[in-house]
Amino acid sequence: MSLNKERLETTIIHASVRGEYERKTGAVNVPVYLSSTYHQDSFDGFGPYDYSRSGNPTRDALEKTIAELEGGARGLAFASGMAAISSAFMLLSSGDHIVVTEDVYGGTYRFVTEVLPRFGIEHTFADLTNVEETARAVKPNTKVIYIETPSNPRLGITDIERIVEIAKTNNCLTFLDNTFMSPLYQRPLDLGVDIVLHSATKFLSGHSDIIAGLAVTKDEELGNRLAFIQNSFGSILGAQDSYALIQGIKTLGARLTQSSESAQKIATYLHDHSLVEVVFYPGLASHPGHATHARQSKSPGAVLSFRLPNRDTAKTFVDNVQIPVFAVSLGGVESILSYPATMSHAAMPKEEREKRGITDGLLRFSVGLEHVDDLIADFDQALTKATSKVAIRN
Ligand SMILES: *Cc1c(COP(=O)(O)O)cnc(C)c1O
Repeated sequence: MSLNKERLETTIIHASVRGEYERKTGAVNVPVYLSSTYHQDSFDGFGPYDYSRSGNPTRDALEKTIAELEGGARGLAFASGMAAISSAFMLLSSGDHIVVTEDVYGGTYRFVTEVLPRFGIEHTFADLTNVEETARAVKPNTKVIYIETPSNPRLGITDIERIVEIAKTNNCLTFLDNTFMSPLYQRPLDLGVDIVLHSATKFLSGHSDIIAGLAVTKDEELGNRLAFIQNSFGSILGAQDSYALIQGIKTLGARLTQSSESAQKIATYLHDHSLVEVVFYPGLASHPGHATHARQSKSPGAVLSFRLPNRDTAKTFVDNVQIPVFAVSLGGVESILSYPATMSHAAMPKEEREKRGITDGLLRFSVGLEHVDDLIADFDQALTKATSKVAIRN
């Protein structure tokens, strides 16, 4: 039983085993139901499940868990974050228009610019941190405003409630990619958003082992429409990965707390370093979205980005840093360093990238669970090498 005032840190531990079956057996973990089909009791007697694309008990436990954590009516699990995002866009029809945050995840950019136009769905990119610009981008046929906050990779902060207000005035929906925060730190549905989306590949699973996506709708009717698309399009999350994700979610509280504390220290260290031109982290008072973020979220989170003078210094830094893995992705127990220009934002033309501040010196850092002093010492020696390289060239 969940208590009325239960905190999310408690809910994440117990939400997946509140089903009847688990109460009967006492199992503390949801079984992995490896069954594609289900025996029907009789000619006209149907049970709760018939075929695992339409529903699977392990996936169900996960979907109920994320719905409870986000405070929504319905949760749905997909084969990837992109499958969740694409499926949500399939609620639209030819002739519709969407307003999309310009600082959007590279894969979403690709889907919006290369796939949706072929189905007659048009888009306008807008700086959603600018409320007036967002309002101006809305057209009579706009059906969705698509938000990412903090955004990727510059950690831009969108005022969720003000964008929701614009959407409601114009009779359109809001979707929000909550990957960077997780429900533990930010609950967009409470602020009026209609669909929350996740790349559960990142913080929710937390171990860089699976690819998964989640969507949660605020109301039941929209949930049913999205479930219809999930079943029609079929990009569901399998039972084994659903299990892995349930286990990952259980340690979310402990992981995010430690990683975010470390991120704040690392951001401060970088901010004070002479070679670093700018640090993008909402936990720094110098960040333009600092106050807005603090109002709508519980923590600045565990991802930051920073700009070195140019490609050469960024390369020297990456070549010399020892602890983090150098890879795409984020949100793992291991710290992950990435170079957005050729990694997460490779799908974006150079000109578009630079307009968005994704310059050749920009690095993104997802803070893992290593000791923060080791991470800072590692950064320090690599930045010293990058600094001497600049000195030699000058
Ligand atoms: C990784 C990511 C996605 C895409 O998720 P996949 O699980 O890789 O399909 C979407 N949005 C954000 C913010 C991401 O970081």
